[in-house]
Amino acid sequence: MAPSLSPIRSHHVAVIGAGAAGLVAARELRREGHSVVVFERQKQVGGTWIYTDHIEPDPLSVDPTRSVVHSSVYGSLRTNLPRECMGYRDFPFTIRSGVSESRDPRRFPSHSEVLAYLQDFAKEFAIEEMIRFETAVVKVAPAVDSDGGEGIGKWRIESMEKEKKVRCDEIYDAVVVCNGHYIEPRLAEIPGISSWPGKEMHSHNYRTPEPFRDQVVVLIGNSASADDISRDIARVAKEVHVACRSNEADTFIKRPGYSHLWMHSMIESVHEDGSVVFQNGKTISVDVIMHCTGYKYHFPFLETNGNVTVDDNRVGPLYKDVFPPAFAPWLSFIGIPWKVVPFPMFELQSKWIAGVLSGRIPLPSKEDMLMEIKTLYATLEAQGIAKRYTHQMGITQFEYNHWLASQCGCSETEEWRKEMYLTTGVRKRAHPETYRDEWDDHHLVSQAYQDFSLYA
Ligand code: FAD
Repeated sequence: MAPSLSPIRSHHVAVIGAGAAGLVAARELRREGHSVVVFERQKQVGGTWIYTDHIEPDPLSVDPTRSVVHSSVYGSLRTNLPRECMGYRDFPFTIRSGVSESRDPRRFPSHSEVLAYLQDFAKEFAIEEMIRFETAVVKVAPAVDSDGGEGIGKWRIESMEKEKKVRCDEIYDAVVVCNGHYIEPRLAEIPGISSWPGKEMHSHNYRTPEPFRDQVVVLIGNSASADDISRDIARVAKEVHVACRSNEADTFIKRPGYSHLWMHSMIESVHEDGSVVFQNGKTISVDVIMHCTGYKYHFPFLETNGNVTVDDNRVGPLYKDVFPPAFAPWLSFIGIPWKVVPFPMFELQSKWIAGVLSGRIPLPSKEDMLMEIKTLYATLEAQGIAKRYTHQMGITQFEYNHWLASQCGCSETEEWRKEMYLTTGVRKRAHPETYRDEWDDHHLVSQAYQDFSLYA
């Protein structure tokens, strides 16, 4: 076991970010008795759900000096999970009665409804009083003692307040990183791209279809974004082509219901005359290539002397995707796993961190944590799973949630939530056009609302 913390101790904790992760982290830390400061560089809560027309000046978002636009949300975005499944466990994402017309009562609502829900959450639990808005964390590093050694469990945080340009340098006992993971784009490698004359961009900078009117557009990727955006753009574009590396080399399929939307295998090369050649042998003349190829974990403010690294999108070493053993429990991360139901998982991770910090929940020794991580890496390697999939969960998220819940002494994920996640996935794959408006899991919705009555 790690040196035990005196039980139920309160600490001074910094949370970086006031998105869905930071909000629930702040609530759980305060509930546990810690004093909390949340740093948020935007002027409101909600993180990625704060839709903006603004896009970054560099359409590929690779210029490190660019001014960052945080949100990746596009105008037509509706959730890809039903609201009952998506919400925090004890603050259900239900249809709010008596609220303004701008609320969206649909089961798979628009991005603005998610933002409104997060604002409701912040209000209900008075989170805003803990937040320093428009204050960006620029550096987080282990604090150095007066004798020159690193003070275990102490962190120096440098932050910058936007309006008055006030730089602040403070010491905290612990830091919880909730900075979001959909900001720093990953790009596909395309042979010949340096001399291709068309326009390239990342889906991070996509907002509306209008700029693509009468254009020929190629999207790369097979994510929810590629799926949604290709159909959004098809409303106005001349032709839309989706290239995907996981498709068979000879793939060339017209999307049902469309005369000008095709699925292809990956791009083989692009050329000076503006043409794009796919692995299936098709050649087309293209105006725009959009990378819908996901994002990289990025912690530009974090200085850990190499104790936490991002290597091919593996953040490590992290015990249970949360604590780096070298700094546990004084540094932690929320929201690293992907292919999950995020909000309820953030809630469990937050409860765990809060309880470990107060000394109520024990952690294994540093050596045991490292051993477990080593075993995980070896297992992934033996299964031929690339590093960049280390934090992908899917079905295993429920086992993970179950483990977190047992550590925290709270109930495990509701059976209806699991089933709803799985049935939605099946419907999404079978009926990508209609899954948000037609469903047959009414019994699960009833069970969810029975549970929700506990929190009314
Ligand atoms: P974010 O929401 O990104 O919040 C991070 C916060 O940290 C931001 O407010 C940012 O300003 C702040 N910040 C960052 N760096 C600093 C700094 N240095 N100093 C101070 N503040 C900082 N999830 C679902 O459940 N359902 C969906 O349908 C769904 N659809 C999605 C669609 C898209 C296009 C994207 C990108 C994501 C989607 N997600 C969906 C996942 C979504 O990211 C999570 O639901 C969740 O909102 C992530 O919350 P977060 O707090 O981890 O990050």
